[in-house]
Amino acid sequence: MQNPNDQSRMDKIVSLAKRRGFIFQSSEIYGGLNGFWDYGPLGVALKRNLKDAWWHDMVSGHDELATLTGAPSPYEMTGLDCTIIMHPQVWKCSGHFDLFHDWMIDCRESKRRYRYDHLHGRWAAHRGKKVFVTTDASGDEAAPETVARAQKFFGLRAKQVDEIEWGGGLESLQQAIAAGSATLADTLGPDAAAPGTLTEPREFNLMFETRIGALAGDDDDRAFLRPETAQGIFVNFKNVLDTSRVRVPFGIAQVGKSFRNEITPRNFTFRSREFEQMEIEFFCPPSASAEWYRFWRDRRWRWYLDLGLTEGKLQLREHAADELSHYSVGTADIEYAFPFLGPGEFGELEGIAHRGDFDLRSHMEGKLVRKDGELVLETGPDGKPRHKGSGKDLSYFDDITRERYVPHVIEPSAGADRATLAFLCDAYHEDEVPDEDGKPRSRTVMKLHPRLAPVKAAILPLVKKDGMPEVAVDLYRALKPHMACQYDEKGSVGRRYARQDEAGTPWCLTIDGQTLTDKTVTLRDRDSLVQQRVPLDEVVAMLRDKLR
Ligand code: ATP
Repeated sequence: MQNPNDQSRMDKIVSLAKRRGFIFQSSEIYGGLNGFWDYGPLGVALKRNLKDAWWHDMVSGHDELATLTGAPSPYEMTGLDCTIIMHPQVWKCSGHFDLFHDWMIDCRESKRRYRYDHLHGRWAAHRGKKVFVTTDASGDEAAPETVARAQKFFGLRAKQVDEIEWGGGLESLQQAIAAGSATLADTLGPDAAAPGTLTEPREFNLMFETRIGALAGDDDDRAFLRPETAQGIFVNFKNVLDTSRVRVPFGIAQVGKSFRNEITPRNFTFRSREFEQMEIEFFCPPSASAEWYRFWRDRRWRWYLDLGLTEGKLQLREHAADELSHYSVGTADIEYAFPFLGPGEFGELEGIAHRGDFDLRSHMEGKLVRKDGELVLETGPDGKPRHKGSGKDLSYFDDITRERYVPHVIEPSAGADRATLAFLCDAYHEDEVPDEDGKPRSRTVMKLHPRLAPVKAAILPLVKKDGMPEVAVDLYRALKPHMACQYDEKGSVGRRYARQDEAGTPWCLTIDGQTLTDKTVTLRDRDSLVQQRVPLDEVVAMLRDKLR
């Protein structure tokens, strides 16, 4: 079973996120909309800081003259901002139109819809009656859930549960059906009272569809909201090459919204229907692509650690050969042990994929499929391409080696919302601090990295008189051009500290009686709680230094 401490921890994080204005449910006053989330005043700053840190560290702050640790050579980085709706042919050639789907299954009785691959079950028998009991619970919650469901189905009391005979352990419903060891007629759906209420699985394309133009009606007007930002980069590859002075190897970065009509959005913002991605498509010579893949995998891993995620909760997982997409030469996921998952379970934050020349070739030639180990153009019964490419030449000519090739692509693809959620979960701490009278008081503190913290410093006059507010306002105005800071004179100083701790503000500056005589302020550190006296005129330089 999931560790109850972790579930209650997750509940507290969700409630703090709402109470302090990090994350709200979208359209909440109308009852909310499943799979859509809004960022409140603190949340928008946190997520923006995260995206800015990514853009700075990967793109604008990148030293293109240096050879970074593990990189085969120096490289350049550039950026793009593409549209959400693109030419429908983009999705046909990329494979999303035909292949970007999940299998869903409906329950005729409960009217609930499930992802086929999320259902697990096992055979249960009692006094000659047999049923394949399923659940959509994950992790360690799944087995106890099947026991409870079987007990109810057979009409047993708690003490009779041992009378149930179990035919093996939990297995995927999809695999059991494929192997013929279960049928839908024998299957008790996760919310059904009787077996045989689940429908045949159906494909469900995850792309949101829309129509272009006022007179939209026929099939030619169909368009899609992008399910990833990557394709905008591939189709602009030549534009970037022709208009900037970049040479392979180089990367193009993009941050933007993506949309996936997820069948079962869940786990707070982890699986949303509208979310933001931070993607890099890195173009390199085929001969060096394996080295670049390893470089990016390790570089992206280090980025999360540098921003303070707990190493013991992060995992770098190389995909096994049977997990790889048909075009991928290698993929690794960076995963985080979110509190809503069972013990030992991790959720993906970012995937780093070696995609070979699949994407550029797809947009030149048309939709590709793997045949006898080779990527070839998919053709229809008439021998014509199933989805025709642009016909444009997207190869690269290296004028130093005099070679022409289609660059290989390494793709580090991260989710801004999932990363924000991981940083929120990781930052959440409860501890005890002495109050104004020295008595222990429990506090909730968000230990966010200063670069990510929505507010960097709070300026607090101890009392609202004796000239303290005036000094505090001057300090606030001196700091504000350099960093997000807040002026707060309302309530006891203990309560003001508590408010800032919950917001994740790393530094509080208190103006007190001593400030008026010796021109020093108290600098309180959120995590260590150390308080030091700092000359007023050194505060700006000191905090700027700490932020660097
Ligand atoms: P999953 O298997 O969890 O659905 P994925 O492998 O389909 O994820 P990618 O297509 O590799 O995800 O997308 C790259 C990144 O985009 C993910 O690592 C994740 O951070 C983010 N992402 C993908 N789908 C969602 C979603 N529904 N909600 C929030 N973020 C998402």
